[in-house]
Amino acid sequence: MALLEVKNLRTTFHIHVGTVQAVRGVDLTVGEGETVGIVGESGCGKSVSMMSILHLLPKNAQIQCDKMVFDGMDLTRATSQQLRHIEGDKIGMIFQDPMTSLNPLFTVGKQLAEPLRIHKGMSKAQARERALELLKTVNMPDPASRLKQYPHELSGGQRQRVMIAMAIACGPKLVIADEPTTALDVTIQAQILDLLGELKEKLNTAVVMITHDLGVIAGMCQRVVVMYAGKVVEEGTVRELFYEPRHPYTWGLLRSIPGAAGAHAKLVPIPGTPPDLIAPPPGCPFAPRCPYAMNICMSGMPGRTALSETHGVCCYLNDEGAPDVEWGGAKG
Ligand code: SF4
Repeated sequence: MALLEVKNLRTTFHIHVGTVQAVRGVDLTVGEGETVGIVGESGCGKSVSMMSILHLLPKNAQIQCDKMVFDGMDLTRATSQQLRHIEGDKIGMIFQDPMTSLNPLFTVGKQLAEPLRIHKGMSKAQARERALELLKTVNMPDPASRLKQYPHELSGGQRQRVMIAMAIACGPKLVIADEPTTALDVTIQAQILDLLGELKEKLNTAVVMITHDLGVIAGMCQRVVVMYAGKVVEEGTVRELFYEPRHPYTWGLLRSIPGAAGAHAKLVPIPGTPPDLIAPPPGCPFAPRCPYAMNICMSGMPGRTALSETHGVCCYLNDEGAPDVEWGGAKG
C-alpha cells in the first residue's frame, strides 16, 4: 500500500495581476520506505506540490485535488490541528536554508526538545536526553555543547544537521527534503547527502527529495518525477530516467549535470525560460524551448504514455507515427 497517494493536485495563487497556476494536475505516489526525487527548475511546482499536501502555503493559495491520502488518512478532510500533528509527528521537513527555518532566539536544544514534548509527551529531561541522542545520530561534533548554542553560532553544515535531527525527532514515516544541500558548499553537500542516505537505511523512512539537480537524485533515489511548468512530464525509476529518458526536458536536465558527459565536457544549458503560469500555453509547456516541437505540440498538452509499469512520459514524440529522433536529444 502506498504511504502517500495524491491524484490530480491543482494549486493556484491569487495575486494582484491574476491567478498563478503553480501546480496543474500532479499525481504522486510514495511507497513505505521509498525514496522519490522530484526534479525541475525553480518555479516548476515541485516544492509547492509538497507544501500543498501539508497546507503549508500562504492564504492566497487554493488547493484542489481528487485524492490525497497519507498513511491511510484522507488529508482533504483533515482539520488544521490534525495536519499540524501529522507534520510534526509523521512527516519531517528539511528545508534549503536552515537559518530561516531555525528560530534564532532559541538554543538548538530547546528547538529539538519542543516537538518531542508536544508530539511525544516527553518530560523536559527526557526531551533533552533524546535531543542529545539525535545530535549524535546526525554525527554532530561535540553534541552536548551544541545543545546550548544558538543557530547563528553553528556553521551551515551543522545547522543543516540540526534540521535533519529535528525532521527525524519523532520517528516520521516520511521526510520531505526540499533542496537540502543547495545552500551548502560542495564537500558539506556530500556529507549531508551521505548522512541522509545512512539515516534512511537505518530508520526505513520514506523520503521525498526535492531538487533541481539530477546528480543528487542519482545517488539517493529509487524513483524520479520530472516536473515542468506545474506538471509531471516524465517519471520512472532512476535507471529508466538516466538510461532511457524519453522527454526532451529530461534530456536537457541530464546534459546540465556537471561531469555527466566527461570531466572536460561543456555544460549545456537549456535555452529559454519556463512559461508564464498566469496564462500557461494550451499545448506542451516546453514547446517554446523544445528543438523537436511540432505543430501538434502548440495546440494541446500531450497525454501520458506508459512505457513500462513505472515509466511514464508526456511528449508527442512517444506517439505512434511520431518522427524518429535520436533518443537522448543530440539535437538539443
Ligand atoms: Fe517537445 Fe512536443 Fe515533446 Fe513538448 S510534446 S517536449 S514540444 S516534442
